[in-house]
Amino acid sequence: MLETAQNTIRRAAEKMGLDDKTIEELIKTKAEHIFEIELENGKKFKGYRVQHNNKRGPHKGGIRFHPDVDLDEVRALATLMSFKTAAVGIPLGGGKGGVVVDPRELTEEELEELSRKYVRHLADYIGPDKDVPAPDVNTTAQIMDWMVDEFEQITGDTTKASFTGKSLGKGGSLGREAATGRGGVIALTEVLKKRGKADDELTVAVQGFGNVGYFFSKIAETDTPLKIVAVSDSKGAVYDPENGINIARALDVKRHGNAISAYGEGKREVEVISNAELLTLDVDILVLAALDNAITEDNMKDIKARMVLELANGPVSEKAHDYLVSKHVTVIPDIIANAGGVVVSYLEWLQNKQNETWDEDRVNKKLERIMISAVNEMHRRSESENISYKEAAFEVAIAELTR
Ligand code: NAD
Repeated sequence: MLETAQNTIRRAAEKMGLDDKTIEELIKTKAEHIFEIELENGKKFKGYRVQHNNKRGPHKGGIRFHPDVDLDEVRALATLMSFKTAAVGIPLGGGKGGVVVDPRELTEEELEELSRKYVRHLADYIGPDKDVPAPDVNTTAQIMDWMVDEFEQITGDTTKASFTGKSLGKGGSLGREAATGRGGVIALTEVLKKRGKADDELTVAVQGFGNVGYFFSKIAETDTPLKIVAVSDSKGAVYDPENGINIARALDVKRHGNAISAYGEGKREVEVISNAELLTLDVDILVLAALDNAITEDNMKDIKARMVLELANGPVSEKAHDYLVSKHVTVIPDIIANAGGVVVSYLEWLQNKQNETWDEDRVNKKLERIMISAVNEMHRRSESENISYKEAAFEVAIAELTR
């Protein structure tokens, strides 16, 4: 992922005529904190915080608790955050953190101790005007609440603006949970408008029915004429081209702890298919909301959708992206498509700093304004330079970062 991110930046920067020194400045990380967290019971865990760029505002980015976390992954995600915040024009930089741990193997007490000690290692380097972490894979609002509390005890800060993604009672923002999916619907709708297709009942397959995939599907179902005909989770997929997927019913299946394939039980019209088959369905739009590298050289030639929305980070490999673009498939890139989450994190940070609480409608309207403006900027550059949306989004970000 690091290589792909850096290649994408390099390619766009070279096209813009930037010199080698400026390009290296754009790529290199500003600071890397690597430490060991030891719990009272002697268990040890490796922790990271990479701060990539803060030219446009405090570093911003999630903290991931996962056994596969490593320095290069954290570097890649921190780098992408700087370009994401720049591409959507919010006054924040990029950062990312992680701990090599499977939180399911910890007790609640151990998880709290780990979260608090993570903050103790970093207290001098983070804060509302330095670096504002947030949740990512396996980190929750509860973990953010513990982290804020620890940060406040160490520093005396009372703004709650040191972390975002907090619970509502502890300074979190309304609209945060749905923000990435909602931002995806807004970005997709704007692109469809430009093609005169926003009123059409286009068919959509959604890979990944977790937080992002669910909210994308729910909001698309209620707010747009799009028809979600297939959804998947890690165990399989369901497809109902005739009736479309009923999103509330699909959620119910997941809430009861079942794989999404259970949605098809007893319904002849619903086909249970594999994950691989979902990606190659004959639909108008493919939404990737699960993992990186979902489309690679292995399956790029089988993709039939004419539009791909990258809600996960890096779900289309570099080669697959170039291939799809050469076949006139529109790829709406991750740094725009999934930016809704960081945009509402920014709005949470603003509310905390201004000691305000906004209602959900106000948050959603601001999210919409920021997303639409980012899509327009990307589209304008893509049209004027005859380049892909991905290149255009990176060019917009680079222009911001080198201003
Ligand atoms: P999540 O864990 O809630 O959901 C992920 C879903 O993907 C789950 O339903 C899982 O079963 C499914 N999945 C895993 N492997 C799969 C496979 N091979 N095929 C089909 N489905 C599979 O995670 P999330 O918060 O929804 O995030 C999804 C993606 O979006 C991640 O890549 C994440 O980094 C990215 N993202 C999330 C946010 C956010 O605000 N949550 C913001 C930006 C980017």
